[in-house]
Amino acid sequence: VLFNKYQELKGNIRVMCRVRPVLGSSEGNPAQIGFPDEKTSAQIDVTQEEKNSMGMVSRKVVPFEFDRVFAPAVHNEEIFGEISQLVQSALDGYNVCIFCYGQTGSGKTYTMSSPDGMIPRATHMIYETITKLKEKSWTYTMEGSFVEVYNEELHDLLTPGRESDGKKRLEIRHDDSRKQTTVLNCKTVALDSPDKVEMMLKQAQNNRSVAATKANERSSRSHSVFILKLVGENSATNERCEGTLNLVDLAGSERLKHSQAEGERMRETQNINKSLACLGDVIEALGRGSGHVPYRNSKLTHLLQYSLSGNSKTLMFVMVSPLEAHLKETITSLRFATKVH
Ligand code: ADP
Ligand code: MG
Repeated sequence: VLFNKYQELKGNIRVMCRVRPVLGSSEGNPAQIGFPDEKTSAQIDVTQEEKNSMGMVSRKVVPFEFDRVFAPAVHNEEIFGEISQLVQSALDGYNVCIFCYGQTGSGKTYTMSSPDGMIPRATHMIYETITKLKEKSWTYTMEGSFVEVYNEELHDLLTPGRESDGKKRLEIRHDDSRKQTTVLNCKTVALDSPDKVEMMLKQAQNNRSVAATKANERSSRSHSVFILKLVGENSATNERCEGTLNLVDLAGSERLKHSQAEGERMRETQNINKSLACLGDVIEALGRGSGHVPYRNSKLTHLLQYSLSGNSKTLMFVMVSPLEAHLKETITSLRFATKVH
């Protein structure tokens, strides 16, 4: 075992919270969010205002506790430092899933897929580690794919084209005896040099903007999943290691009322609500050690079934906005995260 530090911590499910900074004075008033626990950075206090029946306003501080809490001043570099052991464990043969959960605008994509985010940082670190491991007779292959779950359908982000022009939905095949998942006809890229990651991210971004007239809107209504398969072989010892790293930028968790949405938008909303709730149920069931885990209730958990069970490690980032106007959604997100913790 090369990277076992993560295992020393108990359990295989982690929940961390990140609060993004206010982007400028035009964004609006900040909410009252406190970070009292400087030493372990595990607590976040949210101040809520309540009106009683007499119309009097009172303030209530609601504390939430997680494995780590990142205040707005914390940069992606430091956050990656916290999770690098977990990322490395995919080279040890673990299946690792990292999710970003939160309302639209809370910082999910910034944290996960921006040029400075976890996807490029993780792939670069793995690439460097693989290069070093060559001295110890390990040869690794790194294969990436990038898919999107939209309206409970799976699409390839690395294949150009529009669904309306006949771009095919992808299908999931599980090999239950080997506990492995294949996505049929999904494009994979050999990530054998660092610049290939950048190219892949750009390609995914381009394909997404071609597929939807409003690319940003679409990306906030779909889950994107970057899948990195790592296979290592040791020529001296004949050992073999297969691990997977899944980095997931989830659809916006904001609760759209069904009455506000019609037609296609309504179906989207129902599918997002359902699949996020299902993800919560699955992680909660895994945390409880429950015998029955409802993977099949959504496309995302079905896809990630073997990366969430058995030899796996899961991290959920709950992303929150610092704004007063978003406080209600912030509390809903923090409650969701508390449930899976
Ligand atoms: P989401 O993907 O959750 O909808 P984004 O990642 O697109 O949210 O973030 C919303 C905006 O906030 C973007 O303009 C992004 O660049 C900015 N942002 C998010 N997190 C940070 C951060 N930690 N530091 C600086 N800017 C951030
Ligand atoms: Mg986003």
